[in-house]
Amino acid sequence: MHAPLVTLRGLGKAYGSGARRFTAVSGVNLEIAEGEFVALLGPSGCGKSTLLRMITGLIAPTEGEVLYRGGRLEGVNPHATIVFQTFALFPWLTVQENVEVVLKARGVPPRVRARRALDLLDRVGLAGFDNAYPRELSGGMRQKVGFARAMAVEPELLCLDEPFSALDVLSAETLRGELLELWTSGKIPTRAILMVSHNIDEAVFMADRIVIMDKDPGHIVRVMPVDLPHPRQRKSPEYLAFVDRVYALLAGQTLTEDEELGTAPGQPGHTRRLPDLTINEIAGLVERMADQPAHGGDIYRLAEELHVSSDYLLKAIEAAELLGFVTIRAGDMELTPLGETFAEASILARKEIFGSRLRRLPLVVWLLDLLRASGNRQIKFEVAETALSLEFPRAEAARQVETMINWGRYAEILSYDDNSEVILLEPEGGVHLE
Ligand code: ADP
Ligand code: MG
Repeated sequence: MHAPLVTLRGLGKAYGSGARRFTAVSGVNLEIAEGEFVALLGPSGCGKSTLLRMITGLIAPTEGEVLYRGGRLEGVNPHATIVFQTFALFPWLTVQENVEVVLKARGVPPRVRARRALDLLDRVGLAGFDNAYPRELSGGMRQKVGFARAMAVEPELLCLDEPFSALDVLSAETLRGELLELWTSGKIPTRAILMVSHNIDEAVFMADRIVIMDKDPGHIVRVMPVDLPHPRQRKSPEYLAFVDRVYALLAGQTLTEDEELGTAPGQPGHTRRLPDLTINEIAGLVERMADQPAHGGDIYRLAEELHVSSDYLLKAIEAAELLGFVTIRAGDMELTPLGETFAEASILARKEIFGSRLRRLPLVVWLLDLLRASGNRQIKFEVAETALSLEFPRAEAARQVETMINWGRYAEILSYDDNSEVILLEPEGGVHLE
């Protein structure tokens, strides 16, 4: 039996001392085997970066221990490297020199250094840019230099702390693909990858296992093996179902969901109506809550602070709750990990999160079924309205259809032609972050 590459035993970290002492992470147990790609997901502040710093030995734990190949880690781990969100390059060195600099520090002779640097630049897709200076490169290309530099030292353990989140969508996707290709083809000597991510799709696309954390203090909530073969098909039902499970888990409402969401029109049970709010209004509330130190609070005080009526606020909260972004307990509300992820996400990621939640709402499921059943994937507004009037008063039915159109448009699941008053089902059915 091999020892795992990394073992975390009751690992924890408290920052500060005395009255200022703050426990950031506590009681974390985890093993990372050779050959594994593990993704860490969780809300901001749950200790993901802290965990990476302890695993690479940049900071010492205050609780428990890190074992590397079965031995207790003391000090910096020479076999591990971290790539941060934004990689610091030396502006006065060329791309090649920026990669070579870490090899020089390890005493690798010049000829070997140059060969290895050029080879790595080639592999990350930067062939021909060896003599360029960082300022001449796009953000995506600079991050590639960062990857090349991290891999130049041939780390056994490659730690990535939100490596793609500072990049534009296209560069991020390209770099993800290149990293996966290097990893799955065994072209790099790296034995394991541990990647912190803010992006659920990214984690499901790349990792063998997803570790979900929550905070206060940071701990592991769940470990989910991703048993989908590479290359993963983002549109396959298995893939989408898996993404959905991760969302449901982050929304923390896997058990009571059916009850909370209501039933579809025509089905026994109560059809829950959608609060008629725009996405901006819902996002505004979620952002406001994420900004607060306690991430939530008393509903009535919040209404005062936001200068809105509590009726309006309750409607916004209801919408956010329906979407799995907040939970309410005895007049206090709390952002869910999904709500926090939404608050911090890029526009595109927000659309994806929103779309994924939308597809779980019984009313939306009902409308999508109606659209699919109609040969050409489109229906007149009036048809949907009439069908819904069996459930709601006419004016309310119209409002419900309008809300679904607005929300569906935002998530790019639906489109609407104002002239012909026709609702269309988008062929791709939403944003999948590609
Ligand atoms: P994440 O990467 O998941 O966002 P971090 O590991 O950065 O979380 O932080 C976890 C918690 O520890 C946060 O509440 C953060 O404010 C706190 N923290 C992080 N680094 C320090 C530090 N050097 N001193 C004090 N508190 C810190
Ligand atoms: Mg972090």
